[in-house]
Amino acid sequence: MASVQNTSHEKPLLEISGLKTVFPTDDGIVNAVNDVSFKIDRGQTVGVVGESGCGKSITGLSLLQLVPSPGRIEAGEIQFYRNGEEAPLDIAQVAPKSELMREIRGNEIAIIFQEPMTSLNPVYTIGNQIAEAIVLHEQVDKKTARERAIEMIARVGIPAPTQRVDEYPHQLSGGMRQRVMIAMALCCSPTLLIADEPTTALDVTIQAQVLGLMQELQAEMGMAIMLITHDLGVIADLADEVVVMYAGRVVEKGTVDDIFYNPLHPYTQGLLKSIPVLGKTPQKTLPSIPGTVPHPLTLPVGCSFQARCSERMPACEQMPELMGETENRGHAVRCWLHTF
Ligand code: SF4
Repeated sequence: MASVQNTSHEKPLLEISGLKTVFPTDDGIVNAVNDVSFKIDRGQTVGVVGESGCGKSITGLSLLQLVPSPGRIEAGEIQFYRNGEEAPLDIAQVAPKSELMREIRGNEIAIIFQEPMTSLNPVYTIGNQIAEAIVLHEQVDKKTARERAIEMIARVGIPAPTQRVDEYPHQLSGGMRQRVMIAMALCCSPTLLIADEPTTALDVTIQAQVLGLMQELQAEMGMAIMLITHDLGVIADLADEVVVMYAGRVVEKGTVDDIFYNPLHPYTQGLLKSIPVLGKTPQKTLPSIPGTVPHPLTLPVGCSFQARCSERMPACEQMPELMGETENRGHAVRCWLHTF
């Protein structure tokens, strides 16, 4: 778990309230992110978990005004407390292509994706690409940027940084490429790193190394991390708070202990059952949640999870509110089994 914590009366780094991001299609409007609210404190790690298509990645892209066209933020606020500023900036109101948004992207909020090869340019050396990210946001000459790139390559644990700086992405392993992405993301010391499935493409040993590296750098640099993953197991050691999303909505959120030791939503309980536990599930297939996430254009009336829920009851034909939290903090759940 990250060590830096905020107390409830301090301002968060970022507060998302009622965020709604939509995609118009020929068949209707897809509500990819629907009434999503949560906070991220300075230096904190918040895990955002859910199956593919639950809206977690679009939530991350919304924070950077990078929602792919024709998607758009339709409603809600993304209040971001920038360093040295008393009042927050509502990112939801900032034009995606504005100078201000470019300044925030990379410099204050950075993002890394699952597959580094899609983000790295194959025809430039890794040193050039890291240096370019530095020059984009800081007034430094090329020589200084190259020195900083070598420093960052060393900092993310890549051996022989003075040689590696002149290598091309294809000369590195998958784990090394993800380290380069982390170096690029952190070269301008952002206050928030959005990591979207950063280790999904890596094998288990390398995955643990990359997650360990993110933890080390967080302890050194103090940035907050929004860790987006389909795998609750990945966030067990890393996250302070967990947000569970299903069909575009938050269905449960709380501390990592709330979610792991006292999961309330049947969906969260299903996700937890599908995590392998060392020594407890030898040679046995892990249970998975029956069925699939409903298509966003044909969501049922009421609770979106009802077709897959063994606890379904007549009340579930109405959409439950997210209940149990105070001032956007605390253990909260969207389920008629828990109306508090
Ligand atoms: S509201 Fe009903 S259908 Fe939805 S998760 Fe709770 S019990 Fe299951």
